Amino acid sequence: MNDIIKANQKSFLVIDEKNQLQKNLRELTSSMNSIGLVPTMGNLHDGHLSLLRQSLIENELTVITIFVNPLQFGKNEDFGRYPRTLPDDQNKILKLYEQEFSHRTLILFAPKSIDEMYPQNFQTTISVGHSLTQILCGKVRPTHFDGVTTIVYKLFSLVKPHNAYFGQKDYQQCIIIKKMVLDLELPIHLKILPISRNEFGLALSSRNQYLTGEETILALTLHKALRKLRESLLENFFSQSFLKKTFHLREEILKDERFEYLEILDGESLEAITSHSKKVAILGVFRLNGTRLLDNEVVDIHAR
Ligand code: AMP
Repeated sequence: MNDIIKANQKSFLVIDEKNQLQKNLRELTSSMNSIGLVPTMGNLHDGHLSLLRQSLIENELTVITIFVNPLQFGKNEDFGRYPRTLPDDQNKILKLYEQEFSHRTLILFAPKSIDEMYPQNFQTTISVGHSLTQILCGKVRPTHFDGVTTIVYKLFSLVKPHNAYFGQKDYQQCIIIKKMVLDLELPIHLKILPISRNEFGLALSSRNQYLTGEETILALTLHKALRKLRESLLENFFSQSFLKKTFHLREEILKDERFEYLEILDGESLEAITSHSKKVAILGVFRLNGTRLLDNEVVDIHAR
């Protein structure tokens, strides 16, 4: 696989080998002022495409990656059944490229095997501290974020992007990647884009397809809970009782055992809110029949 679709002298390349990617990047990047990276696990929906669109707007060269990263799945998780839909994904990318961005250069990098990213005897892990990676989702997925930071670091070092695009939907992931970039002084701007939702407010996710029609409606419980807590925060923020009222509401909501967690935290440190907090993040996971649904609301206190 190494298609080149030429349009107006610029091109869309599909690459499945790391060496080929590096060769093409060496040839292309000398003439490109800015490179954007959009890491994904594929099964693309409008949320992924909003990241891709933003990168194509802001960069001469964009690399979108599709790789179902085994390192970020626990033993009994859904690595085996995670939806792999590369031909469809490629069509969606090509459509967007041809309709709006044929003046740009775009590479789809979809490694052809796990070995391509993790050769035999691969032994290194990039691991951000436990205070960020073992809380919230990390409590039930203790190795998940190490898997994420390891693949993201590898992609950063392969592509050397100026800008990298992530979704606010995975809020904890964004905070952890920010910390990695800060601590390792990586010269990369992180761009965090808003959550894309369906018409009813459900955050788009590749895992939504595990849900039945009825469960898709039940899944809205999470979004509704987050909105209620957001409203409560906004109503009560400047009264002394703000935390009390909002946390009381949280306790009420948590009586529904399908919530794995529902937390109201400082939006930057993911620690308890203090009088210095600039942002508050309301983060939740809701479980339906084994499917974990993530969503969040962020309240920017200074902007109020
Ligand atoms: P994934 O393929 O699920 O690993 O996601 C790849 C990127 O797309 C991550 O940065 C996600 O946060 C982002 N993403 C996933 N769902 C959404 C959504 N509904 N809205 C915006 N970005 C999203």
